[in-house]
Amino acid sequence: MTQKVAFITGAAQGIGKAIAERLSKDGFAIAVADFNLEGAQQTADEINKDGKAIAVKVDVSDRDQVFAAVEKACNELGDLNVIVNNAGLGPTTPIETITPEQFEKVYSVNVGSVYWGIQAAIKCFHEKGHGGKIINASSQAGQVGNPNLALYSGTKFAIRGITQTAARDLAKDNITVNAYCPGIVKTPMMMDIAHHVAEANGKDDEWGMQQYTKDIALGRLSEPSDVAACVSYLAGPDSDYMTGQALLIDGGMVFN
Ligand code: NAD
Repeated sequence: MTQKVAFITGAAQGIGKAIAERLSKDGFAIAVADFNLEGAQQTADEINKDGKAIAVKVDVSDRDQVFAAVEKACNELGDLNVIVNNAGLGPTTPIETITPEQFEKVYSVNVGSVYWGIQAAIKCFHEKGHGGKIINASSQAGQVGNPNLALYSGTKFAIRGITQTAARDLAKDNITVNAYCPGIVKTPMMMDIAHHVAEANGKDDEWGMQQYTKDIALGRLSEPSDVAACVSYLAGPDSDYMTGQALLIDGGMVFN
């Protein structure tokens, strides 16, 4: 049997890197996709000690680049079974400060990337003559509006909508589409958000992170590996009967 292949965007650091490491342990060959090629190569080098990975440079907001990167991964690793549209930006944007340029940037990276990733994966699944799994990064901020994150929250709500629609459209092709909704994860993105919150209140970064911990029932921030465990389920056979869902993996912040 040939090895299954997973293409993961934003895998040079943070949650994407943890997903790449986890899916490698699950037995997938990994395409580590990021516009930070050096970071992507480091992730791939670490995985290659025990598994199989290649680094692929891509700007996920550019449709042609996404198609080229997925095709390259499919050719070099021999197949594509799972795509994780994980890369995203999380700028702090008080609602009255949002500019058209910020809108373009954040929507094209966070939302455009999901459309292009889905399209590129469909093409590859069809070429290989099988279905597959599409997994998109939403957020607890895609379930409940978060203060000062009007742009970011909007994109993460959009991703849930796209996930539901694509699940309906693609079920006939044996393709499932799901999303994961992390809470407050210890990654460079979250450190940046906490820094801005702290700065606005004249406090240090530690205080900024603590502001988020108090809303988490389990009383601790999330490790990237907590999120990777959820994605492992969505990428594996145990989730075969699930599609169109957005799983909260947030330590108990949002209850539906
Ligand atoms: P991060 O900023 O630590 O890492 C993001 C990665 O994406 C980086 O390696 C970066 O180079 C890459 N990237 C950014 N723009 C790109 C582009 N245009 N093309 C290719 N690569 C690009 O972020 P993270 O915290 O690991 O977040 C990963 C995902 O999880 C994001 O979609 C984010 O919105 C979501 N999320 C994060 C948290 C959190 O608390 N950190 C919570 C909920 C959801």
